[in-house]
Amino acid sequence: MNNTFYGTLIFELSKKGRKGYSLPANEFKQYSIPAEISRQSPTLLPEADEQTVVRHYTNMSNNNFGVDTGFYPLGSCTMKYNPKINEENASHPAFQGLHPLAPACAVQGALEVYYNTQKILSELGGMSEFTLNPFAGAHGELTGLMVIRNYHMKRGDLKRTKIIIPDSAHGTNPASAAVCGLEVVEVKSTADGTVDVEDLKPLLNDEVAGMMMTNPNTLGIFETKIPEIAKLVHDCGGLMYYDGANLNPLLGVCRPGDMGFDVMHINLHKTFSTPHGGGGPGAGPIGVRAGLEAYLPNPQVKKADDGTFYVHYDKDSLGSISGFFGNYAVVLRAYTFLLSAGKEQFAKMGSLAVLNANYIKESLKDCYELPIQGLCKHEFVFNGLIDKSQHVTTLDVAKRLLDYGFHAPTIYFPLLFHEALMIEPTETESKDTIDAFIEVMRKIAKEAAEDPEMVKSAPHCTPITRCDDVKAVKEPKLTYKAYL
Ligand SMILES: *Cc1c(COP(=O)(O)O)cnc(C)c1O
Repeated sequence: MNNTFYGTLIFELSKKGRKGYSLPANEFKQYSIPAEISRQSPTLLPEADEQTVVRHYTNMSNNNFGVDTGFYPLGSCTMKYNPKINEENASHPAFQGLHPLAPACAVQGALEVYYNTQKILSELGGMSEFTLNPFAGAHGELTGLMVIRNYHMKRGDLKRTKIIIPDSAHGTNPASAAVCGLEVVEVKSTADGTVDVEDLKPLLNDEVAGMMMTNPNTLGIFETKIPEIAKLVHDCGGLMYYDGANLNPLLGVCRPGDMGFDVMHINLHKTFSTPHGGGGPGAGPIGVRAGLEAYLPNPQVKKADDGTFYVHYDKDSLGSISGFFGNYAVVLRAYTFLLSAGKEQFAKMGSLAVLNANYIKESLKDCYELPIQGLCKHEFVFNGLIDKSQHVTTLDVAKRLLDYGFHAPTIYFPLLFHEALMIEPTETESKDTIDAFIEVMRKIAKEAAEDPEMVKSAPHCTPITRCDDVKAVKEPKLTYKAYL
């Protein structure tokens, strides 16, 4: 076995003849599988008793880090606490037992939840209509860009194949645009971290389908020139797309629809507190302004004049982008969160997230380099340690944080700074936790100066120590057989 792999594999606990089950005798008639499709050699399966299996997976789960185990200030990811009442509702048997092909008359309650969530999100985003079908933020981006493309195509305006994206954008923006068949045109940021309007102007012409913006952007800075930018893009015939993965600090304070955006997505798994990590499950609902509703993906959930809910398939729709209605259990969690928090709390959530981020930033800026000064929103970016004389990098700081029991912030993103360290505390952390984090970050800065090797060789206290990140990506070993 490759000795860089951590942990015991269940295969290694296997003992011939051990069993973790005892099934009753089979009362049914036996059929034999035809030789041409039957297996020629036995499968490689571990043989273990139930207790061994339970211990194995329980021990494995103890190596996980999550919001439920500790502080997780992963910038751009909004790792807020996920209240357990959300889980309770999502696992309620009445919802769990739903069949996606059940007739609308039999699932009025489920459709009502869906419809109400669409309405609440429309109100929060300042949009006319929402769909909950997309499975993730990136999937929402793709769906939103398909709406934009369909809008131009239905008008016979086929030249519009370019999409403008700021250099600070999340990597999913250009990726979604490429998947949608659009050509990405990059617009630069100014020294204050916002979109450079002078750089934008010459990029605008009749080939532009639209522009994607994130606000606050990935540097945690509020884009102040949106009205001017939206006017420029609209005047040249393009539409404005709002990447709402960072909506948290704006909740209940201002709305993308009022700023001039035509299409937007929201990450239910960030702003609306449904658990995420490791790639899912998530939901990236998209909203559109009045006039674009018909383009939304099918199926669409609507309310009839008599108050009943029905499923609508629109002929102008861009088609289906998910099986049935998307990740319904994620919607349920978000709906529970929305109702249990209540409208009045939203503005408080965003403000607290902003306060927490600024508190950390101000408390650490004498040790860590702050390239963009001034007030941030929900997150901010350091450019590594101020003292770079010992060559202690952002990666080293991130690894050392693990020794102290904190999840590392986002590192080396956004790409605007070489040593980017992006911190987002969210509103759900107590001052005690945040103070403990600040203290550790200061301690690491001190260690970097006095005992740099200690930081460079971190982590020392985790189940696996420093691994080769590049090799792990380039040579993933995902099956047991790969280690034989
Ligand atoms: C998280 C994020 C996305 C992508 O969302 P996923 O659900 O991970 O696909 C897009 N843009 C920004 C700014 C984000 O933070």
